Amino acid sequence: MSTRKQTKKYSYNSGSSGLSKPKKSLGQNFLNDQKVVQDIVLCADLSPSDAVIEIGPGRGAMTGKLAERAGLVIAVEIDRDLIPGIEELANAYGNIIPLHADILDLDIEKDIVEKYVLPRGLSRVKVCANLPYYITTPIIMKFLEECPQLIDDMVIMVQKEVAERMTAAPGGKDYGAMTVTVNYFTEPRIAFIVPPRCFIPQPSVDSAVVRLKMRKEPPFELDDRDFFFKVVKAAFSQRRKTLANALGNSANLSATSQQVAETLVAMGINPMARGETLSGQQFAALANRLLSV
Ligand code: SAM
Repeated sequence: MSTRKQTKKYSYNSGSSGLSKPKKSLGQNFLNDQKVVQDIVLCADLSPSDAVIEIGPGRGAMTGKLAERAGLVIAVEIDRDLIPGIEELANAYGNIIPLHADILDLDIEKDIVEKYVLPRGLSRVKVCANLPYYITTPIIMKFLEECPQLIDDMVIMVQKEVAERMTAAPGGKDYGAMTVTVNYFTEPRIAFIVPPRCFIPQPSVDSAVVRLKMRKEPPFELDDRDFFFKVVKAAFSQRRKTLANALGNSANLSATSQQVAETLVAMGINPMARGETLSGQQFAALANRLLSV
């Protein structure tokens, strides 16, 4: 399946003087630790029938290693200065497609899957990335909301605190709209923690590699998915308020605080409860009931 020309070791991640200076504005903290690269690639569990979308290949620290195991790597990089290096890797491996683009502007299905993946007969699409931290959440949300059915698995490096938010249990300060959303679409797991010394330049906080295994079936039934996410968003937009007040005051929902409180009582939930105490399943049941209020 693979079109690679060669698999010999080839790296453009030299950190040598010919490379452009890392751009802070683009979240450029380049990986500089081969063991971490290897562990990320192993975590992605790749085979020659997989296509990998690598967001922000940068200086290519992971790109060649991904190409050695997957059938195809689509490497989407926003920084024009880094494209020649990715093109060099593409020439060496034969199964890397460099795309100079902002990942947030791409239509994943039309611009990537239909154009590059399907014509090569590849069956699975995975996302693998050391994400630029300034747009971590928009990138994750884009893949989850725009095309969850197209993606099999996401293995991504994020700030440790973001990883903790994705995997938090109800009741704590880390639990929020992102937790509920990520857990609706995926089964998230923190694979390992990566300290600042593994990057050039070093970030100020720890990072974590997270594996988001996309769910084949939703974890609970929703009568209206958009409405569910409106309820979840409203519940956490004013964390210090009770759930009844947060939802009752939301401009995006029509139920009053009184109606929300009555619905909670009917569900056996304390009407003074805050959003952070409800599980995803309870949010689903609440949203399904509020639809007809
Ligand atoms: N993968 C490389 C590594 O691990 O060394 C680089 C990771 S660095 C944290 C993030 C990369 O994402 C940078 O190369 C940056 O230029 C790129 N990037 C930033 N914003 C982007 C966007 N909107 N679309 C695509 N790439 C982006």
